[in-house]
Amino acid sequence: MSAITLSLIGYIVFKPKWREYQRKKIKSQPFPKSWRSILRKNVPYFYRMPAHLQLQLKQHILVFLAEKRFYGFEGIEINDEIRVTIASQACLLLLNRKTDYYPKLQSIYVYPAAFITNHQGVDAAGVLQSQHRVLSGESWELGKVILSWKDAHEGAKDYLDGQNVVIHEFAHQLDQETGAANGAPFLRHNNRDCWSKVLSDEFEKLRQQALKQEDSLLDHYGATNPAEFFAVASEVFFEQPQLMFSRHPQLYNQLKGFYQVSPSDWQ
Ligand SMILES: [Zn+2]
Repeated sequence: MSAITLSLIGYIVFKPKWREYQRKKIKSQPFPKSWRSILRKNVPYFYRMPAHLQLQLKQHILVFLAEKRFYGFEGIEINDEIRVTIASQACLLLLNRKTDYYPKLQSIYVYPAAFITNHQGVDAAGVLQSQHRVLSGESWELGKVILSWKDAHEGAKDYLDGQNVVIHEFAHQLDQETGAANGAPFLRHNNRDCWSKVLSDEFEKLRQQALKQEDSLLDHYGATNPAEFFAVASEVFFEQPQLMFSRHPQLYNQLKGFYQVSPSDWQ
């Protein structure tokens, strides 16, 4: 066996162990006092969680911020307030389970407010069209999440309205870990058949409500496709858990199985 092959095998075998060791070291570092003040000021959600989950979340924030890069656009300067406020919401989705910290994600791009994207797509007639859209967040399969700071900040402060752009975009990241975003993330604790049945029934229900313009707990945007449904349902699961539990108990239980937490018990 050549030296190159041996080093390649060594790299493949030891890289995860090395990363695990590094993360353990990072988690044991003290959580900076100034970061605690940011949580107090911007993330009231943190204080509704039980103490052991607060501790776990702080450790996840330390790792997340050590591994991911933030970039500011349109004049916004990245500072700890932006990093900690966004990381604390993104890491909510990682509690209580083995996580690789959004392994595909490398960068978070932050705009001051809603931003315009230009995408090219083929329309129903097969013609290439340029689409301009105004967005508060976007999740890319190739390693980045784009966020409006205004929306990420307001979403953290108003934690009971069932709308949270950071939870939404990072739910897409979890979904994209499987390759395609289709509302079926890696299911470690759930029965996949049950998950598919409950989520597709609930998606269809929301689609009907959206068509008839009926009121619904989940935003009608979730009726766009199964990936958007999972992201929208994740926002409501964390921010309006009691309402979801009473109106959509099966959906709540599937998400509880997936996220390994039960926010309806937290307040
Ligand atoms: Zn989305």
